[in-house]
Amino acid sequence: MKRKINIQFILLTVLAIAATVLILTGVFYEAFQKEVMGNLQTSARVLEGTSVFDDVDHISYDSNNRNLRITLISRDGTVVYDNEANVIDMDNHGNRPEVEAAFAKGEGKAIRQSATLNKNSFYYAVLLKNGCVLRVAKEAGSIWSLYRNIIPLVLVITITLMAVAMLLTHFLTKSIVAPVEQLARNMDQLGKQKTYRELQPFIDIIVKQHEDLKKNASMRQEFTANVSHELKTPLTSISGYSELIGNGMANEQDTQRFAGEIHRNANRLLTLINDTLRLSEMDVAQEAPEMADINLYQIAQNVIGTLQISAQRHEIQLMLHGQDSMVHANRMMMEELIYNLTDNAIRYNNKNGSVDVTVSPQDGHTVLEVRDTGIGIPKEHQERVFERFYRVDKSRSKRTGGTGLGLAIVKHIANQHQAEIQLESEAGKGTRIRVIFPSAEEKE
Ligand code: ADP
Repeated sequence: MKRKINIQFILLTVLAIAATVLILTGVFYEAFQKEVMGNLQTSARVLEGTSVFDDVDHISYDSNNRNLRITLISRDGTVVYDNEANVIDMDNHGNRPEVEAAFAKGEGKAIRQSATLNKNSFYYAVLLKNGCVLRVAKEAGSIWSLYRNIIPLVLVITITLMAVAMLLTHFLTKSIVAPVEQLARNMDQLGKQKTYRELQPFIDIIVKQHEDLKKNASMRQEFTANVSHELKTPLTSISGYSELIGNGMANEQDTQRFAGEIHRNANRLLTLINDTLRLSEMDVAQEAPEMADINLYQIAQNVIGTLQISAQRHEIQLMLHGQDSMVHANRMMMEELIYNLTDNAIRYNNKNGSVDVTVSPQDGHTVLEVRDTGIGIPKEHQERVFERFYRVDKSRSKRTGGTGLGLAIVKHIANQHQAEIQLESEAGKGTRIRVIFPSAEEKE
């Protein structure tokens, strides 16, 4: 950045100087030309007044003025007198612009480039009473000579100013960059330090990302701790029961019971590991899941089919309502979402209760609703049931094979599908969970 600013500053300086020199020289030269022409005009008028040139045949002008060239041109354009050149060698001057103008309007002027680039010839012509044109001419420096004269000075000024510009940019960029470098050095204090207003949006984002990172890290740590803790209980049971059997301390009846316990705990471990894997899989997934337009009602039919046995065992009436409804979603995730919600509705229900699953289109959205007449979730827990390992009644959850991860998976899946989850529940009365999917067009 410093380098860029430096180069730009120097470029600007050079450009400014060049523009100033060009414009000022132009203005000066304009004034200079006027002055030369004015002098010529005065000379011509003075000569006209002396009537030296009135009689063409007897011109007795003794020119001391080496600087001033005087030419007399007759009506037909032939040169009849010239104080510097031989008239015989001179061609017809009738079509010289200043002469032409003098014949036509009484006076004329012209500036022409001389043989060298450095000089310009200035001409002023006036029509005399005798019908001839008297022309005075003078050579003076051209604009190029003016440039040539001032170029050394301009160079000195340019180099000086460039040095000043470099010094200035050095200190300026240093003072501009200093706070940014300070910020980079003290990332931890970000947000507390004073800085440029323009940088604030970046700092806000960085601070937020910083916090998110910290929160993520602590969440992962907490998750790992929770998983380890959850795994410990069934493993302790398995270890204990197997030890008893191994020691030969259990009779045949106990052995059977212990084996059952080992089996149950092993199953619990399996579900726990399964759910944990599912969640971390979704956590680290780089790519979006494979999506397709699928019929959510059909998926609900399948899931409810598999859960019907569990419902009967719990003496609960499980029913599906609604109609074909399309969603743009991942099929496996949809099965998982409906399964988890319906499974919960059965497990946290009462004998002779009911579970009603409805899939239907509503206001352009596809809505899945799972309603139960179960134990409900008290208000104070409603916010937190979607957290990992959060359980209202731990023993009931465990007894019915819960891991505390089901709703966390549901929430994760809903997020991936930009679906909204609504939870309504009253302790002792029942729970209604609605998942509202965006309409197919919205997804495009
Ligand atoms: P779990 O495996 O324990 O069921 P979930 O994440 O599925 O874990 O649910 C978290 C907690 O929310 C459950 O332990 C339970 O206390 C409560 N819960 C979930 N669904 C219902 C429901 N339909 N009715 C009552 N409580 C529920």
